[in-house]
Amino acid sequence: RVKSYSEKDRKYHLHPTTPLKANFEQGPTVFMERGEGIYLYDFEGKKYIDGLASLWNVNIGHGRKEIAEVAKEQIEKLAYSHSFNRFSHDKVVQLAEKVASIAPGDLNVCQFTSGGSESNESAFKLVRHYFQLKGMPAKNKILSRYRGYHGVSLGATGATGIPAFRQMAGPPMVEGFIHAKAPYCYRCESCQPECNGECAIDSILNVIREEGPETIAAIIVEPIQGAGGVIVPPQGYMKKVREICNQYGLLMIADEVITGFGRTGKWFGMQREDVVPDIMTVAKGITSGYIPLGGVVISEKLHREMVDLSDQSKVFAHGFTYSGHPTACAVAMKNIEIMEEEKLPENAYNLEGFFREGLEAIKESSPIVGNVMSRGLIASLEFVQDKDSKKAFDPSAQVAQRVFESALKRGLITRAIAIDHTDIIAMCPPLNITKEQISDLLQILEDSVQEVSKKLSV
Ligand code: PLP
Repeated sequence: RVKSYSEKDRKYHLHPTTPLKANFEQGPTVFMERGEGIYLYDFEGKKYIDGLASLWNVNIGHGRKEIAEVAKEQIEKLAYSHSFNRFSHDKVVQLAEKVASIAPGDLNVCQFTSGGSESNESAFKLVRHYFQLKGMPAKNKILSRYRGYHGVSLGATGATGIPAFRQMAGPPMVEGFIHAKAPYCYRCESCQPECNGECAIDSILNVIREEGPETIAAIIVEPIQGAGGVIVPPQGYMKKVREICNQYGLLMIADEVITGFGRTGKWFGMQREDVVPDIMTVAKGITSGYIPLGGVVISEKLHREMVDLSDQSKVFAHGFTYSGHPTACAVAMKNIEIMEEEKLPENAYNLEGFFREGLEAIKESSPIVGNVMSRGLIASLEFVQDKDSKKAFDPSAQVAQRVFESALKRGLITRAIAIDHTDIIAMCPPLNITKEQISDLLQILEDSVQEVSKKLSV
């Protein structure tokens, strides 16, 4: 069955985010058939720990019948209806109210989308619209950080700071996106020893001064840069970004697409920083991947201001066919209900220390693990040739990719991330994982790291 599907896949399916040639020549080799809890099972019945919650999104784990029941019920009753202009429906209102109840501060007003890229795109247009309404149309640039990932639509790619994603989008890139340094202390070149994020803050300030604050509408930050390597900012960094936004009149957008819905041990990643942004973008965990949905959540203050500044002739001309899709909203409600009932954000919080200790133990015992980054149930290891000098491996050694392959063979799915000579393996398991299952994950990871390090004969 794998062979026959693989051949058809090569012929008919253009894979997302894939080395085209290699995938076309080889064809995909892992076909998933079903999922249950933290596990996935392929066509041949092989069992895998879904150590990345698929694409950082299956927070409640696989195979939840309750979700299927809710979706069936809603499809039978009202599968779809839109919420443009004067139309609305119960499910979109219920979900918006629910999101407001768990979001920090006065982030109480939500417009829904179908995913993370659309949510960020919406946030960018929304902040531009806000400053247009205020009579400041030149205040329109978006400042983001290198290593940030905000999606693949053209605007979101403009904000993204990972070279591979930018290179295939342009030139020309969309105008108005500017970048500052990531708060990646382990790899901070300009001020070793570790500067605790000061130089990353300086970098933001320098960009603001160079461009002029009157030309910048917003700063977008992931509370933890996920696709960039699980870069956890140093203590106090986000508070400083918030202060910069206040000082220069910029809106702060938190891209919570990965960190939202319990991942870091609180409902939202910014709650671990005690920072309330003006706008939050969400997707992934809002439905745990059971159905596509995203959203942009704005503060009540911002909403009020926009309403007051609008006159009858002004239309907020932005929204998608599937903004507030009833079935997607019903699924999201059930998903959040499950997270509440099973206390999944708390589970992530409580297991943070145990997960971290296990990763630190792997670092101690392995000559090639130079750094551990983690918060809640999202984590990564960075591989180095030499721990003292932090010398990276040559990219051709593909160390993280080899660890990924070895773990896959042993039944653990992770993510290899190779950016700018950094070789990182990321983990982000479903939030209903148990201590015992984390131990299994860590054991496979350790064995895989050991196998690769022996082959490298470090
Ligand atoms: N923002 C972040 C932080 C993400 O990690 C992702 C996807 O991984 C996106 C935005 C884009 O989301 P989507 O793939 O749903 O468009």
